[in-house]
Amino acid sequence: MNTVILTLHGPEHKYTIYLRPGAGADWQRAVADIVPANRYLLLADDNMAAHLALPADGERFGNWRCLRVLPGEEHKNLDQYASLVNAALQGGMDRDTVLVALGGGVTGDIAGFVAGTLLRGVRLVQVPTTLLAMVDSSVGGKNGVNTPAGKNLVGTFHQPAAVLIDPSFLDTLPRREYRAGLAEVVKTAVLDNQDFFTRLEDTAPALAAGDHAALADAISTCCWIKGSHVMTDEKDTGMRQLLNLGHTFGHVLESLAGFNGSVVHGEAVSVGTVLATDFAARHGFFDSDGADRIRALLARLGLPTRIAELGRTADAASDIDVSPPDWQALLGSDQAVRALVQDKKSSGGKVNLVLPHGFGDCRVDKGYDAVTVVRFMRDNI
Ligand code: ADP
Ligand code: ZN
Repeated sequence: MNTVILTLHGPEHKYTIYLRPGAGADWQRAVADIVPANRYLLLADDNMAAHLALPADGERFGNWRCLRVLPGEEHKNLDQYASLVNAALQGGMDRDTVLVALGGGVTGDIAGFVAGTLLRGVRLVQVPTTLLAMVDSSVGGKNGVNTPAGKNLVGTFHQPAAVLIDPSFLDTLPRREYRAGLAEVVKTAVLDNQDFFTRLEDTAPALAAGDHAALADAISTCCWIKGSHVMTDEKDTGMRQLLNLGHTFGHVLESLAGFNGSVVHGEAVSVGTVLATDFAARHGFFDSDGADRIRALLARLGLPTRIAELGRTADAASDIDVSPPDWQALLGSDQAVRALVQDKKSSGGKVNLVLPHGFGDCRVDKGYDAVTVVRFMRDNI
């Protein structure tokens, strides 16, 4: 049974996000029900394909054909984009074929770019399999790949024909990736009124344990909130910027850690959200009780809340072997100020920060001095 979470009516497009808890093996039929077509081209995350015992790269099954997508940010590049486009065309892709992206943010981003550009744009169904992709990257229609000059510098806006979300896909997601997605859930809740945040506090143990009912509520509410922000602002100005809460601080930490896997995006967002909240509290915009609640909820969900914890949280299952970052030294360097002003939300040595002035009242506050902001971070390691 497909439940409609919401239908987004952008200025140019309209599409629906469906929640289908427990569809499990039935997900292909669910896609075919939602977007009927004669042919489907599946772009499947390689790990996910292994979990679901999907056919090998290039193989057909019924009126579907499967192409495997190599996971990891390092494969979200123009080389993999070119091989996917070539393989799609060699397999007889036409304008009526529906592309289906099955995987996390990496697969969704690269498949979205393929769908947005192949034959000048074909229909795409997003089937996100990470929590981050369910609550964040699959909604809004942005896509892209990385280049040596930076992340997501090549891409388009291409709204999907539909998004199909099934929380049971998360059962196989590595715990660290799962927790990282919860950071985006908490960030999104701060943008909304206090009801959702309070609900997250009430269901924190269930969420930490991956309970499907708690997840279905959290995911639908996040899609609603993100949907309402992007709907009014399809091309990323104003409202959409608020979704960057915690991300300006977070990106500095991610980039100082060197994008080597020692700090994952959601962990940086968790600490970044706490820093934004504390910064707002320090300037008298936000009450310190609210700041304490945000920190406590993130901690209960197993997320880092201090810079000092970042880079030390790699779990035993991961194969990361790098020493923890020396945050004192990194945040004392010019590199930190450079990382902050390079952020696209800044101009002329001044930075714009998304700061909470209350639950449901986040604002883009402009013109903070970058050196002062980095000093604040160093004072709060
Ligand atoms: P994100 O959505 O955080 O950008 P990625 O696309 O980078 O996530 O995926 C993170 C990792 O998790 C990748 O190694 C990917 O292959 C794997 N993965 C994605 N979804 C699942 C899942 N449901 N079960 C197991 N592994 C998954
Ligand atoms: Zn994010």
